[in-house]
Amino acid sequence: MASSYTVKARCAKCGKVSEIQAQRSVNVQENPELKEDVCSGRIFVWNCADCGTPNLAKWPFLYHDPEHRLMIWLSDGKPETERQMAAAIEAEEGMEGYTTRIVDTPGDLIEKISIFDAGLDDVAVELCKFVTCQELSKDVALRFYRMEGADNEIIFAYPEKGQMQMAGIGFNVYEDSAGIVRRNQPLLDSTRGLVRIDRDWLSRFLA
Ligand SMILES: [Zn+2]
Repeated sequence: MASSYTVKARCAKCGKVSEIQAQRSVNVQENPELKEDVCSGRIFVWNCADCGTPNLAKWPFLYHDPEHRLMIWLSDGKPETERQMAAAIEAEEGMEGYTTRIVDTPGDLIEKISIFDAGLDDVAVELCKFVTCQELSKDVALRFYRMEGADNEIIFAYPEKGQMQMAGIGFNVYEDSAGIVRRNQPLLDSTRGLVRIDRDWLSRFLA
């Protein structure tokens, strides 16, 4: 798979179409120097040749971390490309023990990478978010921010009134959530294959 290709993209500000070199995938074991470009979001930003406005990429992108046996597919939202990607991953050799995920925005991708880099399970983290929303009595979109301190407090960020707010939970909440996930076979089964693990996915099990 070639790592980059040319795509046409339209500037969100002036509407001018530019031809840009888009990164198709990054293998962070082969190219560790590119990881920072992914995690900072830099790799997904292109500047309009006409007006200079920075735009966010909307092309499909595969993040591959062989060491952590992790593949995250940033989808363009087209069902046929998702089906092709799922089939390609299924046909790949040596995928045992891999975690494979679909995300819809660069922000979602960066969050997933932080979760797995912290050694956490994203399924349990989604459950933690649900619990935290209930504790806050707020219906907000929490994002994993980081693990903090000697007690591994888990910090979530969420937007409120135009500002970023933080909410922390004890690691015990994460451990309880991980236990619930391990005991719930239908939930576990739905995490297999190339899947989206997000708030909407979790809500199907909480109805
Ligand atoms: Zn422009």
